[in-house]
Formats: sequence, C-alpha cells, structure tokens
Amino acid sequence: MKVMTAIKRVVDYNVKVRVKGDQTGVDIVNVKMSMNPFDEIATEAAVRLKEAGQATEVLAVSCGVPQIQETLRTALAIGADRGVLVQTDVELQPLAVAKLLAAVVEKEQPKLVILGKQAIDDDAGQTGQLLAALLDWPQATFASHISIAGEIATVTREVDGGVEVIDLTLPAIVTTDLRLNEPRYVTLPNIMKAKKKPITTVTPDELGVDPTPRLRTLKVVEPAARKAGVRVADVAELVEKLKTEAKVI
Ligand code: AMP
Repeated sequence: MKVMTAIKRVVDYNVKVRVKGDQTGVDIVNVKMSMNPFDEIATEAAVRLKEAGQATEVLAVSCGVPQIQETLRTALAIGADRGVLVQTDVELQPLAVAKLLAAVVEKEQPKLVILGKQAIDDDAGQTGQLLAALLDWPQATFASHISIAGEIATVTREVDGGVEVIDLTLPAIVTTDLRLNEPRYVTLPNIMKAKKKPITTVTPDELGVDPTPRLRTLKVVEPAARKAGVRVADVAELVEKLKTEAKVI
C-alpha cells in the first residue's frame, strides 16, 4: 500500500508575523519557514504505517516555490521514501492545491492520502475535504487514531464533545489532528540519509492544472490590541461596574 502525505511550507509557529505596511499580507522576508506542524504529524503517521509493515512506500508531496525542496527533505528525514515537488511561483489557494494533489494521486495511485487538518498560516482547513470531493473518495477529518485492516481504515475523529470512530473503504483521505501522534525528532544521520532520497519536480502545466487564484485578498490587518484591565477595590465595585459599564447583569 502506497501512502501519500501532503506537505505545506509555512512560517514557523514560533515566529510572530507582522502585517506588511500596504496591508496586502504578512511579511515573510527573512522569516524562518518550517513544515506545517499538522503535516509533520501526517508524515509521522505514514512512516509508522510503513514501520508496522502496512505501507510499502511513503510519498511526500508539496506544491509551491523551489525552496520547498528543503521542507520535503525534512519529510524524507522523518522517513518518507520519495518526494514530489509541484513547482510554481503562483500564489496557491486550497482549491488549486487540491487539484494539483488530485493530479498527483491519479499518477501515483496511493491507497491513502494523509494531509494536515489545516495549515497554520492561512487556517483554511479546506484542502483535504476538497481533495476527497475531487477524487470522490471517502474522508475522515481531524483524526486522532488510524488503524488499517485489509481494505478498511478505521479512524477515530475528534469532534465537538467527544470522539467518533468511523470505517472508510480504501482508497481514502485522512486529515490529522494534534493528538494523532508526536512526530519524532529528526536526527543528523537521518538528515544525511534524506539527502540521497529522490525528489522529482513537475509543473502544474505538466499535470494539466490551472492554479490561478480564484479569491482576491482585499486587506490583512493586525488583530485589535487588548485593552488594559482595571483593578477594583471590592465585590461591590465589581458588581457596580458589571451593571453600569459592562451592562452584563
Ligand atoms: P489548508 O486547507 O490550507 O488549511 O491546508 C490543509 C492541509 O492541506 C495542509 O496541512 C497540507 O497537508 C495540505 N496543503 C495545503 N497547502 C499545501 C501545499 N501548498 N502543498 C502541499 N500540501 C498542502
């Protein structure tokens, strides 16, 4: 069983992003970029399936600028066997990514595709669902456990107020939640090994996909700064303020 994972390169989660002066987006010049944390979890899940003898190959796929090769190398160091970079300088939105991934799926024929539940830069949370729709495959989003038996994947999903366990017939799409696993630490020997693993590059054109954006960003602004609090002398003053200022009682 071939397992494919989708990898997005995003601004590292430790970086506090700044909105550009012209409000067209956030400034990513000289900012540390890393693999989207949910995609690390996806890669770890795929590699664990291979280590358990359930997957024969793990393929990591990413779409975007050439520098993404570096992020794909991290996926290879975690244990993926091979990388595919769909290279383009066009700004990619979830529908375009889903179409590109669908085209790679048609070529590679994986039995399972694991994506992150969301990318932490745009917080769209759409790509896995769009990909399932384009391929007409079953999907399990927000997975906190995956087990495979024959042609069935049993997935535990994190839903409001509890968990849901569902069976999917392979081929299927799964998106990862935080509690699925804790990705391994990437060791130096594995980084060295990853340098020898193959990454092939294709273009959207070669895949027959037009990645042109459908949505236009009008403006990006910083969230409103939180106002400073006030200290009250006693409960009576607090109740008074709740009545007259906050008007909540
Ligand atoms: P989003 O729908 O943008 O929140 O992204 C959800 C998931 O889709 C991510 O966690 C990735 O697994 C995948 N994804 C998003 N953008 C890309 C991309 N440019 N290349 C590969 N995978 C992506």
